[in-house]
Amino acid sequence: MQAKILKTENLQAWLDKLASYGEVYAPVKGKDTSSFERVNAGVMPDFSIRTDVPPKGLIFRQAEKILAYTVGEDGLEIKRAGEEISNRIIFGIRPCDSRAFDILDAALLNPYASEYSYSVMRERTVLITLACNEPGQTCFCTTVDGSPAGKVGNVWIIDLGDRYYVEALSPSGEQVVMLGEGLFMDATEDDKLLVQHKERELFKAVSRFPAPTVGDLNRIFDDEDFWKRLADKCLSCGMCTFLCPTCHCYEIKDEGNPKSGDRYRIWDSCMFSNFTLAAGGHNPRVEHWKRLRQRMMHKFSYFIENSGVIGCVGCGRCIRSCPVAFDVREFLRDAALVCTATVGSIDGLLDRDRTA
Ligand code: SF4
Ligand code: SF4
Repeated sequence: MQAKILKTENLQAWLDKLASYGEVYAPVKGKDTSSFERVNAGVMPDFSIRTDVPPKGLIFRQAEKILAYTVGEDGLEIKRAGEEISNRIIFGIRPCDSRAFDILDAALLNPYASEYSYSVMRERTVLITLACNEPGQTCFCTTVDGSPAGKVGNVWIIDLGDRYYVEALSPSGEQVVMLGEGLFMDATEDDKLLVQHKERELFKAVSRFPAPTVGDLNRIFDDEDFWKRLADKCLSCGMCTFLCPTCHCYEIKDEGNPKSGDRYRIWDSCMFSNFTLAAGGHNPRVEHWKRLRQRMMHKFSYFIENSGVIGCVGCGRCIRSCPVAFDVREFLRDAALVCTATVGSIDGLLDRDRTA
């Protein structure tokens, strides 16, 4: 499909038409916090904000019923949950949050343990990504292979001041663009050149810094002093994991009795002391520095080794929300610095292969 132009004054009309596809969610500023909320026809969301709460929970819900069971005369009957999930659009999601769903896919749709309700939710959701024209102070997407203008999701749009440039990136993206037929014009060559210029400028607007490779992190894994110093002020409150768009630890709970009941998947956090508590009482991560090490190693080493991508999109929410100001960027810089002796200079660390 040819890229389109939507005049700013027609954005609301397109949003209204999108309601015929399904539920529409967009960034909304609340009294104390901002998040993605369902918008009804005629309600204008606030696209200037980068939300405090990521849209992760719209697809990977905090508490999700995954099956119901009954034991009757014919034996055990299991009914999978998820069929009732409706079509939905997440409109105005930022490139980092959009990319976070690719990371969640790698974890939750892997062939060994595919998550049915998540897969249905994912199939029925269209992501309309809005490029970040004003990246924040705590954003570092460019350090973790992203960009404020990253083309991810099903539709990609960028604000050009008096108009939006709109590009469908998948068949479902084309479908929702078509719903606004009559509102769009074809983008011109000048529009495309302007967009390319903006993409380059936005990439430069977020500073990049050296980060450790898988090999670096493996080398410092046993450096207790390093991890203890890093975790010194951490409270293990778990706030960073719950507000992280890529964190996906969960536990399974059953509610019911021997005859019937429901099974739920509920968010958990690797920062909690009982997360790895095993039957019999053994817990390999009693000390909180080991839990913080696990969180960092999982995102910046294990996830790369297992899925080929970094488990962090640089949204900066964990930095903004941490009650004791733990800054993941400092961890990345410190861990990379450990290797400057072998590489020669900090600049030499910038473009290394992360998997090495
Ligand atoms: S939000 Fe901060 S204090 Fe809480 S677990 Fe995360 S790093 Fe530790
Ligand atoms: S670790 Fe922090 S910066 Fe990275 S994706 Fe999670 S919340 Fe965002």
